[in-house]
Amino acid sequence: MSYKQRQLPVFELFCYNRFMCISNKILAWYRPEDRDLPWRRTEDAYHIWVSEIMLQQTQAQTVIPYYERFMAKFPTAEALADADEEDVLKMWQGLGYYRRARHLLEAARIVKDEGMPSDFKTLKQLPGIGDYTAAAIASIAFHEPVAAIDGNLLRIYSRLYCITEPVDRSKTKRRIFERANDDISRTRPGDFNQAMMDLGNKICTPTRPLCLLCPLREECRAFKEGVADELPHKTPKKKQARENYTLLLLDLDGDYLVEKRTEGLLQAMWGFPLLSGHLKKEDIQKYLSERDFMIEDMREMRDYRHVFSHKIWNVSVVYVKLKTMVCAEDRYTWANRAALEDVYAIPSAFQPALEVIDALD
Ligand code: SF4
Repeated sequence: MSYKQRQLPVFELFCYNRFMCISNKILAWYRPEDRDLPWRRTEDAYHIWVSEIMLQQTQAQTVIPYYERFMAKFPTAEALADADEEDVLKMWQGLGYYRRARHLLEAARIVKDEGMPSDFKTLKQLPGIGDYTAAAIASIAFHEPVAAIDGNLLRIYSRLYCITEPVDRSKTKRRIFERANDDISRTRPGDFNQAMMDLGNKICTPTRPLCLLCPLREECRAFKEGVADELPHKTPKKKQARENYTLLLLDLDGDYLVEKRTEGLLQAMWGFPLLSGHLKKEDIQKYLSERDFMIEDMREMRDYRHVFSHKIWNVSVVYVKLKTMVCAEDRYTWANRAALEDVYAIPSAFQPALEVIDALD
């Protein structure tokens, strides 16, 4: 029986009207053509999945060329499942957060064997797919009415319902998830989720929301109470840990030493050797001579900072021209500038060192 067919008690009628208002108004306002994003032109679950993984922590405009290259190389989950990890990481180079790419590959191999899950709960069992990504895929590709809770939706809902508890707490997220699942369109859940994303990007922005242009302002308690600018509340952040490193650019006749990282961040990625701390020239000399590297020239080049989600690296780049070397371990290799670009997926945390090499030439 539909809502329209049965008699509703007053409270239920209020909830129904509210649901109808939010859902209908946001869908009437939504214009997908205003944001011409390649993943909005499809309802293919694999395409939605890849785009959502790339969009985690990365702006849509940055993602577009990566997404298009990735899809050209790996057009289906099966094609991705058959790829080497190194090739996948290479296609991901520059996007950062490489664990996303590894999980995507692992999950594609499961999908190849077991088929693509088509509901929210089962999608969440795949590596790298959390609540938000599962909801986005389930609602857009399979039309399941489940709300995709990201920072945009948390902000919008904390304002719509004047929720003052910190939105990063799981209890608050659960509360918002339940409310949004009550509001979501049963016929166009994917559009509802995408409309909310657009509303968060264009109108209900983190600072100075454009309430007078908002299709939901009549339902919005924060707008009525004049506190939209003050919400959402968040738990105060802990300071990011800082780590200092000396990065060695070891140059032997135009080839540079790179290592496959075995510990810490960026494991299994290729990078330049990092020594803990900001070392003096004498310490670097001692370190290299103990390993039978013979030095011709050494120069301190530049300092840079690389910010991860929970850590900051402060890196000093030191260029060392070598006469000879001994390098027995398999995880080390030598690569010229072109190979560093074309063969090894050097993560963005090491990109400033590549710029130093370019400035040398
Ligand atoms: Fe956000 Fe303002 Fe719209 Fe409320 S009225 S949802 S605060 S933009």
